[in-house]
Amino acid sequence: MLQRIGVLTSGGDSPGMNACIRAVVRKAVYHGLEVMGIKRGFNGFIEGDMVPLHLGSVADIIHRGGTILHTARSVQFLNPEGRARANENVKRFGIQGLVVIGGDGSFRGASIFNREYGLPVVGVPGTIDNDIPGTDQTIGFDTAVNTAVEAINKIRDTATSHERTFVIEVMGRNFGFIALAAGLAGGAETILIPERPFSYDEICERLMRGYRRGKLHSIIVVAEGAAGGLEVARKIKERTGFDTKVTILGHLQRGGTPTAADRILASCLGAKAVELLMAGETRKMVGIKAGKVVALDIEDALSQTRSIDLDMYSLAGILSI
Ligand code: ATP
Repeated sequence: MLQRIGVLTSGGDSPGMNACIRAVVRKAVYHGLEVMGIKRGFNGFIEGDMVPLHLGSVADIIHRGGTILHTARSVQFLNPEGRARANENVKRFGIQGLVVIGGDGSFRGASIFNREYGLPVVGVPGTIDNDIPGTDQTIGFDTAVNTAVEAINKIRDTATSHERTFVIEVMGRNFGFIALAAGLAGGAETILIPERPFSYDEICERLMRGYRRGKLHSIIVVAEGAAGGLEVARKIKERTGFDTKVTILGHLQRGGTPTAADRILASCLGAKAVELLMAGETRKMVGIKAGKVVALDIEDALSQTRSIDLDMYSLAGILSI
């Protein structure tokens, strides 16, 4: 009989992680389970840094960004010795199931730990990057996109007033999900993503075409993995002579109060993770597919490739001519 589970947040933090912790705790307590909150991701798991979480422990956090459990990237958990220490704590604290809220790396760690020590694990996708296969959306993505759109709106005001070209660099090392969504929603003239090669000639030609038509300002959204914002601005300035400014949003995109969509997603996925553990499931991840909460085998999910919607990318190009 399942009596006590653990929950941790791992990898980069994302807005909505707190709403997810709350859902895990409240759903578990509702069903008579005890919950241990493990601090600082897998580091706290290895060090036995954990505290009991009650209904009140998760009061007043649904609207807060970050994670009350703190998060980390744990080098020690990559080593078998680190994971063996974590298993000592599993026994010491009587943990019978683990919810891991984080990105694909965190899921990989959880899956390996399950294979080695048999502890049932369920992964909940929490990352602003939206780069986890097996789910249409990750917790924090919507908030990060809204933060980027808000920034684009503000920059648009000054870009228009000063008749300037602005390059806005957003997060996304391997994928352009944030850039595409924020660029489309913010009406950017050009969107650069790692998935699509681009040429400066093409970008500048587009800018010049707009200029000849009387368009005196332009916004270019670039995912950090496609090119550095500073470099893009320098190249544009060199080739066109346009006054080109850069804004790098950076970690701004990680923080802030989660949107309603992220809180709802976090609540549904957190609760589903507990249900799966109660049903005796193991090595699963939860996700949202076509509006429905789904459960998948972690390893199957991670073996799939996540791809951006290139039709949406083309549409953004058409709408911004
Ligand atoms: P984000 O998407 O925000 O980067 P993430 O979960 O993908 O989040 P990672 O740094 O890749 O972030 O992984 C988080 C932690 O998971 C790592 O620091 C490590 O402790 C653990 N981990 C990742 N891969 C493995 C692995 N192959 N074996 C064991 N542990 C792993």
